[in-house]
Amino acid sequence: MKPTALLPRHTAAAVLLATLLCGPAAWADSSVDTPGVPPGPTLPPQAQGKPPSWAGKAAHKGVVAVSHPAAAEAGARALERGGNAIDAAAAIQFVLNVVEPQFSGIGGGGFMMVHLAKSGRTFAIDGRETAPAAATPTMFLFTGVSPNQLFVPTSSSGLSVGVPGTLAAVDLALKSWGTTTLAQALQPAIALAENGFRINRFLAANIASDGGRTSFQPETQAIFQPGGVKLVEGDLLVQKDLAKTFRLIAQQGAEVFYRGEIAPAIVSAQQRSRSPVLSEGVGRMTLADLRGYEAKIREPITGEYRGWQVASMSPPSSGGLTLVQMLKMLERFPIGQFGFGSPLTLHAMIESMRLAFADRAVWMGDEDFSYVPKKGLLDPTYVAARGGLIDLGARMATPAAGDPRPFDVAMNHAPIQLAAIPSEEEKGVHTTHFSVVDKWGNVVSYTTTIENTGGTGLTVPGYGFLLNNELTDFNFAPTFNAATGNPGANDVAPFKRPRSSMSPTIVLRDGKPFAAYGSPGGSTIINSVLNTTLNLIDHGMTIQQAIDAPRLSVTSAAGSVSCEGTGSFMQPRISVATQDALRALGHTSLGALGSDGCTANIGSVQGVIIDLHTGKQYGGADQRREGTVIALPR
Ligand code: GLU
Repeated sequence: MKPTALLPRHTAAAVLLATLLCGPAAWADSSVDTPGVPPGPTLPPQAQGKPPSWAGKAAHKGVVAVSHPAAAEAGARALERGGNAIDAAAAIQFVLNVVEPQFSGIGGGGFMMVHLAKSGRTFAIDGRETAPAAATPTMFLFTGVSPNQLFVPTSSSGLSVGVPGTLAAVDLALKSWGTTTLAQALQPAIALAENGFRINRFLAANIASDGGRTSFQPETQAIFQPGGVKLVEGDLLVQKDLAKTFRLIAQQGAEVFYRGEIAPAIVSAQQRSRSPVLSEGVGRMTLADLRGYEAKIREPITGEYRGWQVASMSPPSSGGLTLVQMLKMLERFPIGQFGFGSPLTLHAMIESMRLAFADRAVWMGDEDFSYVPKKGLLDPTYVAARGGLIDLGARMATPAAGDPRPFDVAMNHAPIQLAAIPSEEEKGVHTTHFSVVDKWGNVVSYTTTIENTGGTGLTVPGYGFLLNNELTDFNFAPTFNAATGNPGANDVAPFKRPRSSMSPTIVLRDGKPFAAYGSPGGSTIINSVLNTTLNLIDHGMTIQQAIDAPRLSVTSAAGSVSCEGTGSFMQPRISVATQDALRALGHTSLGALGSDGCTANIGSVQGVIIDLHTGKQYGGADQRREGTVIALPR
């Protein structure tokens, strides 16, 4: 499609648009060196007749891309010992629990996307936390506290702890497709917890700020602040209790966590409260809730983008549906010709994000409990109509959610009041993502979390792991339909899983995996994955370039833009000139003309690539954390 076919209806903006289309891409400051990154428009790779480019060390015995070097090492060794990608993922997850305890672990949950080379099938293991049986839609309505004041007290309270799913998910993955035992997968983590490791600057910063809360609970302080002195970068962190817990699991299996001696310790730890009304902040999880926890194997959400198949996480995550919606809305624009980081590309991205997040706020949640019109949300006619609202010449007024039900095969005729659902606030910037490919071509893309930095900040006494605050991903206030009483898709309910944004993604071509990646970052996760996808497919970047490039994110229909700009260490930067072009299109949330409104730091993407022609494997990791790639053989 020629860019001129896209000229806007609004003539006032037409002159600006013509300048934007014909002028040079206004992405990088001219003074900034941007080695290796395409400075201007590039054709979509499929238009060039070749897949996206790659660079970096080529491997054929497997690649791991992880946000911490010690965990990457554990994964690489698992592969070197003859294990597959699932074995490596298990070892990585347990070591991350030791070296990045503030981001993920057995006290939390996550989603593991797995592509199996032999069958060519792609599955997702849902290890999301669940609400306890005693959860209610109004459980977060504390006396005298308005819902929008709730996040801070609630996120540090036992009330927000969901029944953890990570251990069950890893156990299920190993039993289904692994070649090693849970006990073997735990060994590197046991050694690191027992002997200690050197704290990196990211954990040190989180310890210094108590994970952004007033203070950690005493048991947590005892780990990170022994003798009242906070550990700093370079200090040795020894976690004897965690080593003991892992040994117990190695000896007795995941049972000991869900039904054995660890279970009552979890239940009593979440009975602490940090809420203003203490009795209301107490966790409701029981031994029966732990006994009843189940990780689930789900079909991913899939969609085609410019000939590539994108598989990402299905409900209870909103990631896959939102990502594929955005891609389908963007597909009609020649993003590659618009150019990486050009105002037109960024504007189209912003508008697709606003539309998709409007739908997300209303229609997405745990489909085991709420009607999620998956087919309708991705129906080509529905998405085309939604995407048709994007005007390249001007920012649209705040869009309402659409109504995909007429396009949904499994249509539920119950009336639902769209306007009653509040829009999603951006929250949380934590979690971790890693990707693995093995020598057989099995792929794992795993996003894993305890939600906030340090979760609730509650450590299970004597067992040394932090408990999540994942239930804060539910709507804090119930969103009833006044007419029918239908609850919102993401209202709390017993046994329900809170809506997630985690989007572990695998991109395939003709059924063969080409790329796997994902990110932390709360609701910005979906946008980090979108940025990376466009960088690979439209802008022809290598995986490392796609990760390094500055990101842009909008997580609500209202459309407040956050972006990595001149204040970011990532290169190239979103220049003030580019921001001014966006302001001229109506994106005033970026601040005054001439100012730098791009000050965010968004996501941490770890990815692997498999050359579809040669089978060679490559990795990319994020400098926004201590991202590490190990390509085998070394
Ligand atoms: N709890 C978030 C989610 O599931 C992830 C946490 C984060 O990345 O901040 O979407």
